[in-house]
Amino acid sequence: PSRIVKMLKHKSKAPSTINLDILLQSQKLTSLAWRTSTAMERIAHLKKIGSWIKDNQQAIREALKNDFGKPEAETDLSEIFPVTAEINHSIKNLKKWMKPNSVPTPLPMLGTSSKIYLEPKGTSLIISPWNYPFNLTIGPLISALSAGCTAIIKPSEMTPHTSDLVSTMISELFDPSEVAVVLGEVEISTELLKLPFDHIFFTGSPSVGKIVMKAAAANLTSVTLELGGKSPVILNEDADLTDAAEKIIWGKYVNCGQTCIAPDYILVHESQQEKLIMEMKVALQKMYDPDYKGIEKSPDMARIINDKHFKRLTQTIEDALSEGAALVFGGKYTPLTRYIDPTILTNVNNDMQVMQEEIFGPILPILSYSSLENAIAYVNSKPKPLALYYFGKNSEQTSKVLRETSSGNTVINDCVLHFLHLELPFGGVNNSGIGKAHGYHGFLAFSNEKGVLKQRVGINNVTLLRPPYGIKAKQII
Ligand code: NAD
Repeated sequence: PSRIVKMLKHKSKAPSTINLDILLQSQKLTSLAWRTSTAMERIAHLKKIGSWIKDNQQAIREALKNDFGKPEAETDLSEIFPVTAEINHSIKNLKKWMKPNSVPTPLPMLGTSSKIYLEPKGTSLIISPWNYPFNLTIGPLISALSAGCTAIIKPSEMTPHTSDLVSTMISELFDPSEVAVVLGEVEISTELLKLPFDHIFFTGSPSVGKIVMKAAAANLTSVTLELGGKSPVILNEDADLTDAAEKIIWGKYVNCGQTCIAPDYILVHESQQEKLIMEMKVALQKMYDPDYKGIEKSPDMARIINDKHFKRLTQTIEDALSEGAALVFGGKYTPLTRYIDPTILTNVNNDMQVMQEEIFGPILPILSYSSLENAIAYVNSKPKPLALYYFGKNSEQTSKVLRETSSGNTVINDCVLHFLHLELPFGGVNNSGIGKAHGYHGFLAFSNEKGVLKQRVGINNVTLLRPPYGIKAKQII
């Protein structure tokens, strides 16, 4: 059956229809042609995206400002820079990544030679979230194009200005049979997920990640799931609290806490809690209120994406306070502008909503612990996080935390920074994600590692493996 769906552009308001089966068929044909694409041809795709971004930087900033009041400097830093860095990194390395890798020949295979070829998986579907709507849509596209895959992109419906701009950009640069943007809500996503793509790259919540994986299973399509969760910060007793507080405050309040790798909660030694709170207040004032006008007036604090999330977050604060949490900073909000104060809570417990679900907003709960073992046990009692942040100087205790916890990424003595390190695989583990992104790891996600063994004609050095077996089989083991 043909899947004809209505696409709604935010600006035009006039829905246009699109036949998803025909679109995918056209991309299948392109993907067959792209199977033999050279590094230079792929680099040409990346370069034209790079030039478009350069020419339209202001339009990107405005779209994000219209979607959720994102400060321009933050757009440059967290939406544009990671994408241009990804483009430059791929351009620099693609030839090397595409080269077949020779592998050693084991004794029983003597006389053969083998290589691993990285072939494009083919067609891909990229579904992206609203919180970094440009970066998390175009970033995976760079990996798909580097690997030689076509892509259908479904951006988030919650950031209509940015999603429209992404759609305009792609239609200016690519034929729909190469890369296409399909705009819409859950219904369109559901229809797309029924199609037999060769790879699906999904960024979003763990609950929708499960829906994506289930749908992919029907076609045995491989998936990369970049999900979320509660990323903890552990402060060891020997941590430099001034340094840690500044780094935590920036990592938490960039994008107003609406970051998949934002510190979700803090575990601090009970003897250090008061000093940490004081240092965090100093850091907040220094970064977001240098003129003492109030953080709400800061041009550098983004707003909450929509009323639904605003209500969810303010309710989370109110519930925690009514259940006995203590407010040590913030707590005020303005519904009209969807502003919520950076809000720091202590005296929280595991039964509170704030400790049950990913916060994804400006609330920062602090829990105290009596020994590092207890802090580690607390982290291990929860699903494996996307990121774990550890602050401390003692190398034995640092490696203890590294060895005894599991997370997608771990950062020692900083927060969030690993997202920008393109040599590191980025992603989660189990509940926080499956598969990795960025640089070579993103390229691998969209590639099939094809092992190729080459035997010489007329050479039969494996006769031991053939019948009549007799006692020969015994000689092998
Ligand atoms: P979401 O899962 O609600 O939506 C993501 C995308 O999936 C959107 O395009 C949406 O239209 C689509 N979608 C929603 N429901 C669907 C359904 N039932 N069937 C099919 N498609 C559906 O996530 P969100 O609210 O946009 O983003 C926030 C979440 O994303 C957080 O959990 C955050 O941690 C996570 N996230 C992860 C990363 C990462 O790189 N690991 C990055 C950013 C955000």
